[in-house]
Amino acid sequence: MTGIPETITKSISDNQRFVLLTHIHPDGDALGSMFGLADILDDLGKEVFCFVEEPVSQLYAFLPGCGRASSDLDALHDFVRQAHDKTAVIALDSGDDNRLGRHKDVLLAITPLVVIDHHKSHKEFGACRWVEPTCSSTGEMVYELAEALGVEISYSCAFHLYVAICTDTGSFRFDSTHARTFEIAAKLLEAGVNPAEVSCKIYDNYSVARLKLLQLVLATLTLYASDQIACIHVTRDMFETSGAALQDIEGFIDYPRSLQTVKVAVFIKEVQSGNIAVSLRAKGQCDVAEIAKMFNGGGHRNAAGFRFAGKNLAEVRTEVLRVLSRDLGVQPDTTVG
Ligand code: 5GP
Ligand code: MN
Repeated sequence: MTGIPETITKSISDNQRFVLLTHIHPDGDALGSMFGLADILDDLGKEVFCFVEEPVSQLYAFLPGCGRASSDLDALHDFVRQAHDKTAVIALDSGDDNRLGRHKDVLLAITPLVVIDHHKSHKEFGACRWVEPTCSSTGEMVYELAEALGVEISYSCAFHLYVAICTDTGSFRFDSTHARTFEIAAKLLEAGVNPAEVSCKIYDNYSVARLKLLQLVLATLTLYASDQIACIHVTRDMFETSGAALQDIEGFIDYPRSLQTVKVAVFIKEVQSGNIAVSLRAKGQCDVAEIAKMFNGGGHRNAAGFRFAGKNLAEVRTEVLRVLSRDLGVQPDTTVG
């Protein structure tokens, strides 16, 4: 880590009110880092408004911070208006400003905008930035910030940050996991976090509908390029048949990625009719953040994504396979599955 810019710590001491933002379809790191930072700001006697575009996924309903997340734009405006010029916005875990969602313009109009992110593909936005791609997660960065501010980590904060770190490192499995990640995890355990309890809440807490959806999605598994590329997809019909929600697909891509021969796993998701999102996961040398950038997306070396509008699922798959095959140096027509 290169160190926290002074402008970041100063923006926290200089302001009294904070609007915290994170990326759309927030995952464990997005929510954990936001609620963890909210706990820290509470302890500093600041006032905090956690804004989320949509209600938090059921998968993360166990986070104590969920109770304070609001999607109410009017309430957000009231909060900002009351504060005159003493409100700062902090965007967490967002690799570019489009990730802030459909209210982006309204949110970016509140200043100063502080950005805390760890994406390799980060596209600069905001007046004051701390971008640290060597950190495993934004949760890890928030922990470093707490230390720099001299704040003692509460149990609630430790819980949130542990969830953030645990989910973004794939439970300390990905190569973003460093010695410092474990040092911080140890500190969070000292603050009272029970790793077995957290693990149970994250991984042993699913609905039957989610498992039914997983069944349908795994049936779409197709292998390409001598089994080096594994592709799965989900359609609107599958959501309807299973009764599962969009958020339930988190983690599905781990299954194709887990295959021994696979170098890149692709998950093509019909999020709305005519609106496709793609998740990519890599093992080894392939840098999927670079692939995602070619499609105006982004992410990390081993986990990235992008969106496609106006193309159907099959067209998107053909396009993605063409680019991936070129990257892996294989013929796109070596389909075997
Ligand atoms: P996931 O596949 O879990 O949605 O996302 C994997 C990683 O890629 C995350 O770090 C996420 O922030 C990033 N990512 C996913 N979709 C997009 C996208 O549409 N644009 C950008 N810039 N990053 C994305
Ligand atoms: Mn993250």
